[in-house]
Amino acid sequence: MTSDAIPAAVACHVSTRGPGPTRLSARASEETLRLAGQARWQVDATVVGSAPQGAVARAGDLAVLLVGEIPDDGGPEAVLRLYHDLGPWAFSELAGRFAAVVVHGAGERVTVSVDHAGTVPLYVVHTWDGDIDVATEAKVLAGLGDRGRPLPGTDEVPGLRGVRRLRAGTCLTVQASGHSRARDTWTVPAHRERVDPDAAVAEVRAVLEEAVAWQVREPMTTVLSGGIDSSAVAATVRAHSGRVATVTMGTDRSDEFAPASLVARHLGARHTQVSTTVDSVLAELPFVVALTECADPAVNEYLLPLARLYRELPAGSRVMTGYGADIPLGGMHRGQADMALEELIVDDMSTFDGLNELSPNLGSHLGLWTSHPYWDRAVLQRLTTLAAGLKRREGIDKWVLRQAFADALPAETVSRPKLGIHEGSGTTSHWSEVLLGRGVAAGRVQAAKARISRDIYDLVVAGGQEPGDVDLGAVTTAVVAREELTG
Ligand code: ATP
Ligand code: MG
Repeated sequence: MTSDAIPAAVACHVSTRGPGPTRLSARASEETLRLAGQARWQVDATVVGSAPQGAVARAGDLAVLLVGEIPDDGGPEAVLRLYHDLGPWAFSELAGRFAAVVVHGAGERVTVSVDHAGTVPLYVVHTWDGDIDVATEAKVLAGLGDRGRPLPGTDEVPGLRGVRRLRAGTCLTVQASGHSRARDTWTVPAHRERVDPDAAVAEVRAVLEEAVAWQVREPMTTVLSGGIDSSAVAATVRAHSGRVATVTMGTDRSDEFAPASLVARHLGARHTQVSTTVDSVLAELPFVVALTECADPAVNEYLLPLARLYRELPAGSRVMTGYGADIPLGGMHRGQADMALEELIVDDMSTFDGLNELSPNLGSHLGLWTSHPYWDRAVLQRLTTLAAGLKRREGIDKWVLRQAFADALPAETVSRPKLGIHEGSGTTSHWSEVLLGRGVAAGRVQAAKARISRDIYDLVVAGGQEPGDVDLGAVTTAVVAREELTG
């Protein structure tokens, strides 16, 4: 599949054990490339993307594989140049949505890194025999990790012994000798800056404009709810490109068609509405768990409607979302005092790693590439370091963002209260009702969702089962029969 909208590489599996079959979920062109072939390590990569060869740059004894993208159309060559000068510290200067693997041609050293927020996840197994496997999905490494070594800068993946996930904003170097070292390339800012409210408003708009500008590639669709987060993104795309295509999904249970249409009309967007059943949204659960490789029920509930909507979009296109703005802005904590809001934002920003909410896998298994401008490095940095008093001001949540787009959107949109995607689509209430209908007690619904998510995780991540073969009804029946959920 060749499309400018899709990066040269969207997924990879790099191995020193020789080229072999792998089971990456991403759908695009797939090629096996040799990254290094001398000395102790022979390093082969299975790369999936629009142009797998174009994801690799080489010079001297270095080979760089870039999965995802970095600003200014800098491909793997830009990473290579920076790495040549700075070594692993190159990654502390790189913004983007990427994972990267650097191999020293003689094969004595492999360096892996992910972006500031780990938005493109990377998993590693380094065996005591000296082999190393790196992949953008944990499940493809299942079974390799039984003799995996502990590695700095990583966390073990639940249910997959010895498979380790590289932490967000981390660069890890593994030597053939067995020595390894991790470096932080970005950490969540703990400080807050006193910024004049007008300046903060202008800066938020400016950083979002830059983040959108470097990630716009046609064909592209902005997934729009008519909430402030996605409406601001759509307005920014419109301002940058002179046009915007938007799509809104609703279900037989609930939709946000009216507020989304209002925004689309205001922006002169090419707008589409997708109607589906809430049952078909819930049926995405095995796919969502398989693709995020995360058993967190809340995260999966947010992603269910998006996963369903992505099925309606043409392969080879790019999707831009307003996902994730609420985390640095504290948007879901309405009615908190400033001090409490600050604490909650600190908590939320310290627990995102490993949830894989922004993982490209959710789109790339359908041949799509997703981008989430609120988690662009500069945007995230700006939003996080603003004081809570600018995030909720005059009783208005996400004040700074609403102000930043007050002149670009209808007044009704700017003041519209937050409605989570899981609420606006009826996903949360529908799933709860299904469980209540199975006899789960009201106070145990959350526990039931957590158990079901974990059981599915064990099947599709740890167990290697195809998500399409998982019967959600049967898993639910088994969980309800096994656990104390009805009393
Ligand atoms: P707000 O947080 O103020 O409601 P929002 O609706 O844009 O703003 P979320 O509710 O957090 O943000 O939803 C996350 C993202 O998912 C949205 O920014 C949007 O890109 C996408 N999204 C949510 N609901 C829909 C929908 N019904 N149709 C299409 N995309 C949606
Ligand atoms: Mg919303």
